Amino acid sequence: MADQHYEWTVVQSTKPLADADREAILANPVFGTKFTDHQVIVTWTEELGWHDARVEPYGPIMMDPAAAVLHYGQEIFEGIKAYRHQDGSIWTFRPTANAQRLQRSAHRMALPEVPVEIFVESLRQLIAVDGAWVPQPVNEKTLYIRPFEIAAETFLGVRPAARAEYRVIASPVGPYFTGGLKPVKIWIALDSSRAGKHGTGEAKTGGNYAASLLAQSEGYENGCSQVMFLDAETGTHIEELGGMNLFFVYADGHVATPSLDGNILRGITRDSVITLIRDRGITVEERLISLDEVREGINSGAIIEVFACGTAAVITPVGQLKSRLEVIGAEDQQPGELTTSLRAELTGIQYGTVADRHGWMHKLAD
Ligand SMILES: *Cc1c(COP(=O)(O)O)cnc(C)c1O
Repeated sequence: MADQHYEWTVVQSTKPLADADREAILANPVFGTKFTDHQVIVTWTEELGWHDARVEPYGPIMMDPAAAVLHYGQEIFEGIKAYRHQDGSIWTFRPTANAQRLQRSAHRMALPEVPVEIFVESLRQLIAVDGAWVPQPVNEKTLYIRPFEIAAETFLGVRPAARAEYRVIASPVGPYFTGGLKPVKIWIALDSSRAGKHGTGEAKTGGNYAASLLAQSEGYENGCSQVMFLDAETGTHIEELGGMNLFFVYADGHVATPSLDGNILRGITRDSVITLIRDRGITVEERLISLDEVREGINSGAIIEVFACGTAAVITPVGQLKSRLEVIGAEDQQPGELTTSLRAELTGIQYGTVADRHGWMHKLAD
């Protein structure tokens, strides 16, 4: 099983974007708006398992209106980036961790698990044809890669689909938040949860995002760009943002982050940041963190930095926390010292300018 070999078919686009048009996009990429010339597709059926691995021109999915994903939301995804190094080579970050997380998400959502080998090879295959879409390493530009899996069986019955598709698309990106490394304001969701006990909070599935959007709109209306969710059971503990994990830096020198309680997404950036902080000899506690503790800590000065992290935004300083009941923290906060230096270290590893001492980088192309 582990040594099963998959043949890849590549159908080159006959209408790739002209070099000048591609370069114009790469000069000023806007997150998630433009896509490369190709996509990866691998099909799974109950009879054949994973088969027909291929690279095809980018284009719409022809799908029956009765396809299961459109009705019952069996969908999971990943987010991973390709970084160009100074010598022109193209690398990605901890792809095996993403592959394993996609498998855990698949298990939870009753989808077939994409073998790790297919996942990693799919990134290589896409970069082999679309490598020119990986921007030069300036202004934190990268190629954001979006692997995803959907239930593709034409069937309205409620059961795990007998046909699934794994696809990979990619989109060049600049910094996730426009406006530089400015602390983001966070809206605390008091009236909606993104995940409940034994729910799907740990799976990277579209439904979790759908569940977060109402609170996000509320946040936007109140001048906040991200939403913080509390635990659904008691509404007292901090879980995470809609798409990023959270860290709190204490004046006494330790750092704390909410423990993985089954509702929180196991961020690969979260895991990497914990390692980088511990490398510095700083204690990182993974534990319950209540909103009360954070409020008191920020007000008393016991908490000196808050930051969020994820592949898309890397590490982002958090400024004010707001809800319909209160405002926590000052309006004019500056990014903290640890936040800033961790960010520089992690992006340095990813762009190949800081030693990769944990073997996190994986080469996709020379
Ligand atoms: C993807 C995601 C994260 C961040 O995970 P990374 O692996 O660091 O990109 C955090 N929270 C949620 C809800 C996510 O979907």
